[in-house]
Amino acid sequence: MGPCLKVAVIGAGAAGLIAARELQRENHRVTIFEKADQLGGTWVFDPQVEADQLGLDSNREIVHSSLYFSLRTNLPRQLMGFSDYPFGIRENGDRRNFPRHEEVLRFLNDFAREFGITELIRFGTEVVRVERVDLRNDEWVVESRTSESNREEVFEAVVVCNGHNTQPQAANLPGIEKWPGKQVHSHNYRHPKPYQNQVLVMIGNGPSAFDISREVATVAKEVHLSSRSPQHLQVSKLDNHHNIWQHSKIANVCEDGTVAFEDGSSVHADTIFHCTGYKYNFPFLKTNGIVSVVEDKRVGPLYKYVFPPKLAPSLSFIGIPERGITFLLMELQSKWIAGVLSGKLLLPSEEEMLADVQQLYLQMEESQIPKHHTHLLNPFEGTILIIDNTSVFLDMELLQELSQIVLVDAEELQLALSNLFVLLEPTLNFSLSFLSRPPTD
Ligand code: FAD
Repeated sequence: MGPCLKVAVIGAGAAGLIAARELQRENHRVTIFEKADQLGGTWVFDPQVEADQLGLDSNREIVHSSLYFSLRTNLPRQLMGFSDYPFGIRENGDRRNFPRHEEVLRFLNDFAREFGITELIRFGTEVVRVERVDLRNDEWVVESRTSESNREEVFEAVVVCNGHNTQPQAANLPGIEKWPGKQVHSHNYRHPKPYQNQVLVMIGNGPSAFDISREVATVAKEVHLSSRSPQHLQVSKLDNHHNIWQHSKIANVCEDGTVAFEDGSSVHADTIFHCTGYKYNFPFLKTNGIVSVVEDKRVGPLYKYVFPPKLAPSLSFIGIPERGITFLLMELQSKWIAGVLSGKLLLPSEEEMLADVQQLYLQMEESQIPKHHTHLLNPFEGTILIIDNTSVFLDMELLQELSQIVLVDAEELQLALSNLFVLLEPTLNFSLSFLSRPPTD
């Protein structure tokens, strides 16, 4: 690989924008393909919902963003900037540390403008095929489609940034074929109004289930939360909420509208809400099975979640890990890719990279961690790459500031800090998933 490559970036969400900036800084020639008519991806609120609200019909018209109208960030703004471009308070904007979603979109637009990224984007252009020109070299054909035409172009590298919060993953419920009620995935939730006076069962215990249940409970008759963990949970009413109950996992659902839980309780529900996450999906990517998606949730093999060993470095992925400090992680991944493509940073051999991935899979198996958690960064176990010793992306000052504004457990913070200083290691075991939005912010 020599410097100054022709690189295709697929998607102009946060990942594509930061990828483009880092590639450009390394003098690569970048084209960003974006199927929408504006940048921002997830952060472009769309009031439309899909016709099939569970997302099972593959012919449905797809709505990209999963934002609901009232959404505020679940990380403080101090953790949602890039290392040299903080997510500051905007003129006439939401000044809170966990601002509304519009602020993130403004931030991304400002970022793209400031670094001359907007002009690299081909809007309204969907990538429909990415395939190697031939199996012996590293060039890629990128076929794209606009409302007028299809076009094929050859690139020396492709960086995949198409996002992974669009294809709903629904829970598998015994008896669901005959259950008469309505089912919705959180991807298609916008506001609580349609659920007025309803009895809802909400599956999941991530940020979406948390936010949506509290909001919808303001108009619904009852909200029944159901989650896999902890096991053997006994049904209980949530403190400070007169109409929200916590249950265990759903045992089965019945033709008469009943939803039965493993804790022995049951309710007659109008709607089952699946806050159960998303599938990875790369419909355009043709790699002859070299990169595949296993059980909808494991993209691989990917060395450190970024490079498929057999196709590295000409094919790479940004933003695959779930949770963690997304924007900073994407920035580090982008710097790494840009540096490798220009020959400044070296990857291990294909065999070493594959062995590393196998090792991860083996460790997961031994610890009985299910495959669908492959990309879930656990607190203090997430792999965030440090490209060189100067890439310190969270400094003491920022952490001190954070500890004043965010409710954190002092011991956890201490542990996080000690992990943070393992900077000479090739990986940094650190994640801030213990940070939570203060209820009164
Ligand atoms: P996206 O933002 O999804 O961007 C992908 C882009 O690729 C889109 O613009 C899409 O149109 C385009 N695209 C896709 N396929 C093609 C194609 N074939 N051809 C051309 N273009 C294509 N993260 C945080 O850090 N803080 C938060 O508070 C937070 N809250 C969240 C709340 C919700 C409800 C969700 C769903 C996610 C949240 N996230 C949050 C995670 C969020 O997804 C990331 O912050 C980030 O925006 C993901 O960026 P991305 O570029 O990877 O993907």
